Order: sequence, then C-alpha cells, then structure tokens
Amino acid sequence: MNPAQKKRRGQLIVLSGPSGVGKSTVIAELLSLRDEIYFSVSYTTREPRVGEEDGVNYNFVDRAAFEAMIQGGELLEYAEYVNHYYGTSLRLIQEKLDRGIDVLLDIEVQGASKVRKKCPDAILIFIVPPSFEELSRRLRGRQTDSEEVIAGRLAKAREEYRHIRQYDYIVVNDKVSEAAGEILAILTAESCKTEHRIHMIEGDNAL
Ligand code: 5GP
Repeated sequence: MNPAQKKRRGQLIVLSGPSGVGKSTVIAELLSLRDEIYFSVSYTTREPRVGEEDGVNYNFVDRAAFEAMIQGGELLEYAEYVNHYYGTSLRLIQEKLDRGIDVLLDIEVQGASKVRKKCPDAILIFIVPPSFEELSRRLRGRQTDSEEVIAGRLAKAREEYRHIRQYDYIVVNDKVSEAAGEILAILTAESCKTEHRIHMIEGDNAL
C-alpha cells in the first residue's frame, strides 16, 4: 500500500459552549459541509424536548439504565448537569475512531475535562457568542424561558467560562457559516500535524 494512503485513526473533537450560543446550529452546518464526521449521540436521563427524537438527538434512558452503564464501564465520560445525567458511549465512538472516522462530541465542561484526561489527543473547542450581552439577547429572543431560567443559564455560562483554558481553541459564533468554517480549518490543520503525517514519509525511503 502506498504509505500516503495509510489510514490514520479518526480525530476526537469536543465542542462545548454555553446554552444559547447556537452550538446545535453550528454542528448541523458542520455536518452538512463535511459528511465524514460522525456525531456522537449521547445518553441522557432528561425528558425529550418537543421535536427531539430518541436515537437522533439523544438516547433517552432512565436513571437506573444510566447508572447500569456507569457501573458497567460503558461510558467514556459522563456528567450530571442540571439534575440529569449525560454521557458518551465508549463502544459507539471507539469503533468509528478505529475506522479512521472523526467523531464529534457536544458535551459540557466537566465531560470535556474527563475526555482530555482519557484521550490527550482530543481536540477541544469552546464556542462563545460575540459578547455576553449578545448571549443574553439570544436567550431572551427565544421567548420560551422565564427571566429566572435565563438568569440561571447566564450564571451557568459564567461558570463554564472559568474552564475555558482547558480548551485548545475558541470559536466565536457571530455568523454560523463562519464559525463552522473556522472549525473545519482547525480540523484541517490538526490533520496536517507532523504526528499525523509522518507515516507518509517513513515508508517513502526518504528518511
Ligand atoms: P441539553 O439538555 O440542553 O441538550 O444539554 C445540556 C448540556 O449537556 C449541554 O451543554 C450539552 O453539551 C451537554 N451534554 C450533552 N451530551 C452530553 C454528554 O454525553 N456528556 C456530557 N458531559 N455533557 C453532555
């Protein structure tokens, strides 16, 4: 086999960001621009929201089932967020990474730090709004939440910002297409790193 064709392992990409930053929209744009990325569908104990589908947005399970997965060592990471469990299935993503497929996780900051410890090569990206005022405007613009809920989300966002230094990259979501474009640029640069390309040279009799 031509060494240049040797299959690399997939990249594990973690995306985090405060509620209201538009993460799901950026992810949808990203997946529409590049179809060889697998979006990891998490397990959660929270109730589905209107329009959410089991197995598509999340795998919805009860606490007993979730706790059995924890006990069985089936999760790469999990966290409790606003009284509900959220976690990433190890089996589902392992198989994709082994096949050279990039895997995208949409997880909060505690989960991201567990991924960082277990998979030091993971790429951690934090999405921020252009400003905190803009985040507050976006949350109010949804017109679905009370002032109290919005205040809670903003407080949570401030807490999440305190963990931002563990991330490799910060992407500002002002325009969705630009944010998705920046993430694609990050992925391209990461895949060109020497450690991911050296095998192309090694089999080439050049060294
Ligand atoms: P939501 O309930 O709004 O869908 O998600 C709440 C938070 O949970 C978001 O910050 C989202 O990124 C995070 N989340 C979703 N899935 C997972 C997961 O598998 N693990 C962790 N640690 N966080 C998750």
